[in-house]
Amino acid sequence: MSVNIMTEHNGIDQSSTVDVFRSEVREWLAANAPRESLLPWTSREGFDQHRAWEQTLFEGGYAAVDWPIEYGGRGADLRLTMAFAEEYYRVRAPERVNMGGLYLLGPVLMQYGTEEQRARWIPDLLACNTIWCQGFSEPGSGSDLASLSTRAVRDGDHFVVNGQKTWTSMGGFADWIFALVRTDPEAAKHRKHSGITFLCIDLRTPGVEVRPLAMVDGTKGFAEVFFTDVRVPVENVVGGVDQGWKVAMSTLGFERGAVFGDHAKFSNDVAALAGLVRRRGLEQDTLALDELGRVLVETEVYRANVYRLAALAEAGGNLDQTASINKLFWTEMQHDIFATGLRLMAEEGGVVGGDREVLPGVDPVTAHAWKDWHHRYWYARAAMIFGGTSEIQRNIISERVLGLPMEPRPT
Ligand SMILES: Cc1cc2nc3c(=O)[nH]c(=O)nc-3n(C[C@H](O)[C@H](O)[C@H](O)COP(=O)(O)OP(=O)(O)OC[C@H]3O[C@@H](n4cnc5c(N)ncnc54)[C@H](O)[C@@H]3O)c2cc1C
Repeated sequence: MSVNIMTEHNGIDQSSTVDVFRSEVREWLAANAPRESLLPWTSREGFDQHRAWEQTLFEGGYAAVDWPIEYGGRGADLRLTMAFAEEYYRVRAPERVNMGGLYLLGPVLMQYGTEEQRARWIPDLLACNTIWCQGFSEPGSGSDLASLSTRAVRDGDHFVVNGQKTWTSMGGFADWIFALVRTDPEAAKHRKHSGITFLCIDLRTPGVEVRPLAMVDGTKGFAEVFFTDVRVPVENVVGGVDQGWKVAMSTLGFERGAVFGDHAKFSNDVAALAGLVRRRGLEQDTLALDELGRVLVETEVYRANVYRLAALAEAGGNLDQTASINKLFWTEMQHDIFATGLRLMAEEGGVVGGDREVLPGVDPVTAHAWKDWHHRYWYARAAMIFGGTSEIQRNIISERVLGLPMEPRPT
């Protein structure tokens, strides 16, 4: 059986110049992208709006332009993929909510899934009919992921799962979770990365309980997921029983690696910051300009690096060693942009609490901009944690990229 998701949009003529494709995308976005900002995806209503937008993207043939044609993508090379992203961010189209499926599980299934699994899950995932979330972290296992203790015990052609996952992004809105579970605790006594399995679980299965988690800004887009005697078919294992660690590392590689074109998003943020400097009449203020200049240089360095990596990849180079460097750089740069804006806003009086809507004496447009900036500041802080914290990325870079001595670990 082969997955062949032919749509009327299949394929891009790779000989078409970047400019031709860019204008096709530009035209489509002008006709289809929402004119008004959607509600934040962290509420049910906002999430549904974002999901509907993802479905529009799919219908237009733009859900995953870089995916191979046989899986329903457009087979775009990196130049075209970047052109799409640059156009997308140029019009400030909505934040994507289908990342767990499109950026993580989809590529994992292409690498490790069986033909049956690809045929079963990829079409709905691509069309955003099914939302997937990532069940790796547990209350006692974050940075030290291999210490996870959610158990899956074989019972005939099922596994019986018991345990808890936490910090599950979009958990409250998702349909399925791809989880790491411990299937061989004995093996873990010798090497804790052993005996782990990558298992896909339908969140509607009896025994699954999803509890929303409130974030520091009051929103509830995250969840804890509890499993009590949850029966999951063995055929939902991806990459082999007890072979989950390599699948997990591959998933994290996709999460940390270069997202070609996202530099355009950060350039937009710096442009918004410049607008704030202007609005405050600080064009001649050397301190404000110094801060603005710093983040502008950071985003330009990042852009140049994304182009460098794209050239390296097109030439067949291996990007494995660049994932942690990339994640560390963009997350700290993003934090710098939003922290700088917050300092400027604080001086302007723009200190907004999580859910305070009314700001006496402030016009609604400014209040909305402040609120949005605060929301994104907190998200930028979270980005330095999810997918592996900055400290963990530094450890990986020092040990695996630079070859420095390993950090001391308990024996
Ligand atoms: C917004 C958000 C979304 C998330 N989404 C998901 C999701 O969808 N799915 C999922 O599975 N997980 C998710 N996570 C969880 C995330 O992956 C973990 O929070 C992260 O791996 C850190 O684990 P921890 O919170 O247990 O912190 P800990 O591992 O307890 O770390 C605490 C502190 O100690 C530091 N530290 C730990 N070990 C070392 C070391 N060896 N050397 C130096 N410093 C160290 C860390 O850097 C950190 O500062 C999300 C987290 C956030 C904040």
